[in-house]
Amino acid sequence: MSFLEQTQRFIKECVEELGVEPEIYEFLKEPRKTVIVNIPVRMDDGKIKTFIGYRVQHNNALGPYKGGIRFHPDVNLDEVKALATLMTLKTAIIDGVPFGGGKGGVAVDPGQLSKGELQRLSRGYMRAIAWFISPKKDIPAPDVGTNPQIMAWMADEYSYIRRQAEHEVITGKPIEIGGSKGRTQATSRGCMFVAQKACEKAGLNFVGSKVVVQGFGNVGGNAALLFEEAGAKVIAVSDVFGAIFNEDGLDVKELMEYTKEHGTIAKYPKAQIINSNELLELKCDILVPAALENQITKENAPRVKCKILVEGANGPTTSEADEILVKKGVIICPDVLANAGGVVVSYLEWVQGNYHFQWKEETVNAELKEKMENAFDRIYEFAQEKNMPMRRAAFMVGIKRLADVMRIRGWV
Ligand code: NAD
Repeated sequence: MSFLEQTQRFIKECVEELGVEPEIYEFLKEPRKTVIVNIPVRMDDGKIKTFIGYRVQHNNALGPYKGGIRFHPDVNLDEVKALATLMTLKTAIIDGVPFGGGKGGVAVDPGQLSKGELQRLSRGYMRAIAWFISPKKDIPAPDVGTNPQIMAWMADEYSYIRRQAEHEVITGKPIEIGGSKGRTQATSRGCMFVAQKACEKAGLNFVGSKVVVQGFGNVGGNAALLFEEAGAKVIAVSDVFGAIFNEDGLDVKELMEYTKEHGTIAKYPKAQIINSNELLELKCDILVPAALENQITKENAPRVKCKILVEGANGPTTSEADEILVKKGVIICPDVLANAGGVVVSYLEWVQGNYHFQWKEETVNAELKEKMENAFDRIYEFAQEKNMPMRRAAFMVGIKRLADVMRIRGWV
């Protein structure tokens, strides 16, 4: 089953178990709108290359569509649909975030483009989707392969098209053009709050806990850093080029400096190089997959030895692997909860943008903490009450809220 099919099947099961109207599933199984665009880009050699891009608007019962834009060679329509579906659930489980779910992407390896080509592609993508989005309709953000600079180019292009300053159409922007303090680290900080809560419930000390992180980009790199700053011991990390391990704990701050210079963690000298597949199977307290989907599968799940799984990435665990881990007693903090910190602070950025105001980082972080901890508690209590794993509880809490709102709005 594909990532999309697994997500759809899970939603169907939850709709049935909740006993809400079956039509709710009809609203959630497919997106409301899908836009497919071809983006011609003038490359540095003078030739034109065409890239395929997508914007999927899944559900807007709770508010404008919201979700990141991924630049990755494997981006395809089904993947973007699955990610957009998860966004609908994610925004529904966080109280006070008035967004629906969406996602976008371009099939491209951004590492192969020059800075100029990347800017032309980013602007081209925005030109292609500009008339389908707006600050009150659909608000994109960064995801894999995109970053604040790319958001800035897109915000600039959008404002140019609309002939007025409307940077609030996109979040995850640099601070200089209306980004929020705390946004870059928000997803990782949210993972940390969730991990701390899960440790508390498991009777495990977060300080001194052994942590393994897959992926060393925005989410993984910052998660490693924040976990370390909060007293955990990061013993292994990986990126697309390789994996490294140090039983005594890595110096994450130094590793980040090293990565800025060398572009990868792979040859960092103060650690042992290990096989990337082994990384997920290391004995540790907390495992944070923060790369891509389908990383923990039925093949490697039996060998996964963490006590707590904090899904920084979207869809890192297949449904078969999920069942295996649940049976093994692993506490799974699912993606829709664990990585919701990004969309929480994107919401705060959107509010600040609409008010043309900027909050202090402490204000943003405190708001994030409160929202993440409340969501964790609500889902944990639901899971305890119904005697079910956290993923199922999270989906049920989200679907119930969506069903209530769709009913009130008269959709069902
Ligand atoms: P990114 O592009 O900044 O980083 C991705 C990292 O994963 C890179 O270090 C890359 O080398 C690594 N990677 C790729 N394939 C790998 C593999 N097979 N093994 C090990 N490492 C691999 O992306 P990001 O923004 O950090 O996103 C990572 C995940 O978090 C994605 O699933 C994304 O959807 C999710 N997410 C991101 C945000 C956000 O705010 N950026 C919010 C919520 C969820």
